[in-house]
Amino acid sequence: MGRRDGFSGGNAVAQGRKEILGMHEADVAKVLSRMGLLERMNAGDLHCSDCGGVLSVDTLGAIFKKDGITGLRCDRCLRMLLGFGECLDAE
Ligand SMILES: [Zn+2]
Repeated sequence: MGRRDGFSGGNAVAQGRKEILGMHEADVAKVLSRMGLLERMNAGDLHCSDCGGVLSVDTLGAIFKKDGITGLRCDRCLRMLLGFGECLDAE
């Protein structure tokens, strides 16, 4: 039970510049709220930077910052980006 692993409670989230991956929904909501985007998401007004699909807490895959601009990416595009392959749940 040392204190040296530095990993407990670890969220690599919201360091400002890093892409946020695999966040829990509560964290997502928190971050979005902090960014003033939660209301827009709830209103269905947030879209994936890549495919333009509407984002919800469920479909949000990543939040990233580039040149000071916040971008959002959906789960599917994130998977594609990471090389997890094609979306398998296509009708
Ligand atoms: Zn997308």
